[in-house]
Amino acid sequence: MARLSSHPFDLLAERFAQIFADRISAALPAPNARGGARNRATSKLRGRKLDMRCHYPGCKNRSKGPRFKFLCDEHRKLPKKEQAAALAKWAEKNGKA
Ligand SMILES: [Zn+2]
Repeated sequence: MARLSSHPFDLLAERFAQIFADRISAALPAPNARGGARNRATSKLRGRKLDMRCHYPGCKNRSKGPRFKFLCDEHRKLPKKEQAAALAKWAEKNGKA
Protein backbone atom coordinates (compact mmCIF):
# COMPACT_ATOMS: atom_id res chain seq x y z
CA MET A 1 0.00 0.00 0.00
CA ALA A 2 2.77 2.37 0.86
CA ARG A 3 4.30 1.57 -2.48
CA LEU A 4 1.67 3.60 -4.33
CA SER A 5 3.50 6.81 -3.60
CA SER A 6 2.74 8.14 -7.04
CA HIS A 7 -0.98 7.80 -6.44
CA PRO A 8 -2.70 11.22 -6.35
CA PHE A 9 -4.21 10.43 -2.98
CA ASP A 10 -0.76 10.02 -1.48
CA LEU A 11 0.28 13.36 -2.85
CA LEU A 12 -2.88 14.88 -1.45
CA ALA A 13 -2.31 13.28 1.91
CA GLU A 14 1.24 14.50 1.90
CA ARG A 15 0.13 18.03 1.14
CA PHE A 16 -2.47 17.87 3.87
CA ALA A 17 0.14 16.66 6.28
CA GLN A 18 2.37 19.55 5.30
CA ILE A 19 -0.44 22.07 5.71
CA PHE A 20 -1.33 20.53 9.04
CA ALA A 21 2.24 20.69 10.24
CA ASP A 22 2.44 24.35 9.26
CA ARG A 23 -0.83 25.17 10.95
CA ILE A 24 0.11 23.35 14.12
CA SER A 25 3.54 24.90 14.39
CA ALA A 26 1.94 28.31 13.80
CA ALA A 27 -0.73 27.69 16.44
CA LEU A 28 1.67 26.45 19.06
CA PRO A 29 3.36 29.12 21.09
CA ALA A 30 7.07 29.44 20.70
CA PRO A 31 9.13 27.76 23.42
CA ASN A 32 9.98 31.16 24.83
CA ALA A 33 6.36 32.22 25.08
CA ARG A 34 5.54 29.00 26.84
CA GLY A 35 8.27 29.61 29.37
CA GLY A 36 6.84 33.07 29.98
CA ALA A 37 3.41 31.63 30.61
CA ARG A 38 4.90 29.23 33.09
CA ASN A 39 6.64 32.07 34.86
CA ARG A 40 3.38 33.98 35.07
CA ALA A 41 1.73 30.96 36.61
CA THR A 42 4.35 30.71 39.29
CA SER A 43 4.23 34.42 40.09
CA LYS A 44 0.46 34.11 40.33
CA LEU A 45 0.96 31.29 42.80
CA ARG A 46 3.55 33.26 44.67
CA GLY A 47 0.86 35.57 46.03
CA ARG A 48 -0.90 32.57 47.48
CA LYS A 49 2.25 30.99 48.76
CA LEU A 50 2.29 30.20 52.42
CA ASP A 51 3.84 32.76 54.66
CA MET A 52 6.50 30.63 56.24
CA ARG A 53 7.49 33.08 58.91
CA CYS A 54 6.64 32.28 62.47
CA HIS A 55 3.22 33.66 63.33
CA TYR A 56 4.27 34.69 66.78
CA PRO A 57 4.10 38.49 66.95
CA GLY A 58 7.52 40.02 66.42
CA CYS A 59 9.19 36.69 65.75
CA LYS A 60 11.31 36.58 62.63
CA ASN A 61 12.12 32.90 62.70
CA ARG A 62 11.03 30.58 59.97
CA SER A 63 8.05 28.57 61.06
CA LYS A 64 7.80 24.81 60.84
CA GLY A 65 4.81 25.13 58.52
CA PRO A 66 1.10 24.38 58.75
CA ARG A 67 1.60 21.21 60.75
CA PHE A 68 2.99 23.30 63.57
CA LYS A 69 0.52 26.16 63.27
CA PHE A 70 3.21 28.23 61.54
CA LEU A 71 5.22 28.56 64.68
CA CYS A 72 8.97 28.30 64.82
CA ASP A 73 10.83 25.74 66.88
CA GLU A 74 10.99 28.16 69.76
CA HIS A 75 7.36 29.17 69.84
CA ARG A 76 5.78 25.82 69.19
CA LYS A 77 7.04 24.86 72.63
CA LEU A 78 4.77 27.48 74.18
CA PRO A 79 1.62 26.45 76.01
CA LYS A 80 -1.38 25.95 73.72
CA LYS A 81 -3.08 28.97 75.22
CA GLU A 82 -0.21 31.26 74.33
CA GLN A 83 0.03 29.76 70.86
CA ALA A 84 -3.65 30.37 70.30
CA ALA A 85 -3.32 33.97 71.47
CA ALA A 86 -0.37 34.55 69.19
CA LEU A 87 -2.17 32.98 66.23
CA ALA A 88 -5.29 35.02 66.93
CA LYS A 89 -3.18 38.17 66.97
CA TRP A 90 -1.54 37.16 63.73
CA ALA A 91 -4.90 36.43 62.10
CA GLU A 92 -6.21 39.80 63.24
CA LYS A 93 -3.18 41.58 61.82
CA ASN A 94 -3.50 39.74 58.54
CA GLY A 95 -7.20 40.28 58.17
CA LYS A 96 -8.13 36.64 58.48
CA ALA A 97 -9.80 36.81 61.88
ZN1 LIG B 1 8.67 32.17 66.61
